[in-house]
Amino acid sequence: MAENKFWSDIVSKLDPYVPGEQPKLANLVKLNTNENPYGPSPKVSAAISTELGDSLRLYPDPNADVLKQAIAQSLDVDVSQVFVGNGSDEVLAHIFQGLLKHDAPILFPDITYSFYPVYCGLYQVDFTQIPLSEDLSINLADYQQPNGGIIFPNPNAPTGKLLSLAGIESLLSVNKDSVVVVDEAYIDFGGESAVGLINRYPNLLVTQTFSKSRSLAGLRVGFAAGDVSLIDALKRVKNSFNSYPLDRLAIVGAVAAIEDVGYFEETCEQVITSREWLATELQSLGFSVLPSAANFVFVKHSGHDAAVLSAGLREDGIIVRHFNQSRINQYLRITVGLPEQNQQLISSLKALLGVA
Ligand SMILES: *Cc1c(COP(=O)(O)O)cnc(C)c1O
Repeated sequence: MAENKFWSDIVSKLDPYVPGEQPKLANLVKLNTNENPYGPSPKVSAAISTELGDSLRLYPDPNADVLKQAIAQSLDVDVSQVFVGNGSDEVLAHIFQGLLKHDAPILFPDITYSFYPVYCGLYQVDFTQIPLSEDLSINLADYQQPNGGIIFPNPNAPTGKLLSLAGIESLLSVNKDSVVVVDEAYIDFGGESAVGLINRYPNLLVTQTFSKSRSLAGLRVGFAAGDVSLIDALKRVKNSFNSYPLDRLAIVGAVAAIEDVGYFEETCEQVITSREWLATELQSLGFSVLPSAANFVFVKHSGHDAAVLSAGLREDGIIVRHFNQSRINQYLRITVGLPEQNQQLISSLKALLGVA
């Protein structure tokens, strides 16, 4: 526990999230934080340019209605079923505080997005981590036990493994007394969204982000879709914390991104094609590659230490993510890059592994 006489008890006990490195050096092949290798739709910068000017004098719309409408339309839900925030991390924070903090512990996987336990520390939410099965999949039957809420990413991070919609629905059909949050940060890279279930399950909340598939990690926009009563809870938290989480540039930029369906579909398709190429190449170098429905692959080599490989790649100017965590410390999480970056990664690994 860190100590300082000015700190509150909660701050002293926090164990904050450590984001993946954002290196200041140019020319690195950056495959460590699951950003999209393609830029955002060109319509985003056009929209932001038109907003740059005198209007910045004025506060933005506190409810970002135009963005909520655009999202609602694209998801085919009602605008009252949508909540937007400053990145899905902020949306998740409000969910932990407003919907997951109860007497019973919440459940999430032992290997998952490492921000979940951090929010629990901040908001003092009790939790129980449910171990992934031996093959690193989420077994939803393990979640059928008393709980104060359930949260998991689909596909899971950092494994990339996808759950079927039927599996999620069978959990929802028995777990009706607490909120189930499906964090769909990577759903657009090959999964089927659970948003279509929100009208049937008033305890289901689905979150998504513009950071990955819409290539706007720098703009900070995320959202949740769910029953009006869940959305109302999030609005209550938001309006007790920061009424203007999205600025004017973020609102217009995100609207432009969601409206450019063609660009979105094309770039997602390219990422998926590259992911499959990368998986095949890595397998031929002797890596085991978990089946991924995300924009990254999670891989392990039986003959080479993951930390050593990660350090070797870094010397070649390529950064990937290595988690120093039991069960997964022999894995590397590699974000799918541009075709030439993926090629560079493979060449560098060939040299490190000593294969021709
Ligand atoms: C990237 C990510 C997020 C956060 O996304 P932001 O919208 O950038 O805050 C949330 N959940 C998971 C699982 C992620 O990988």
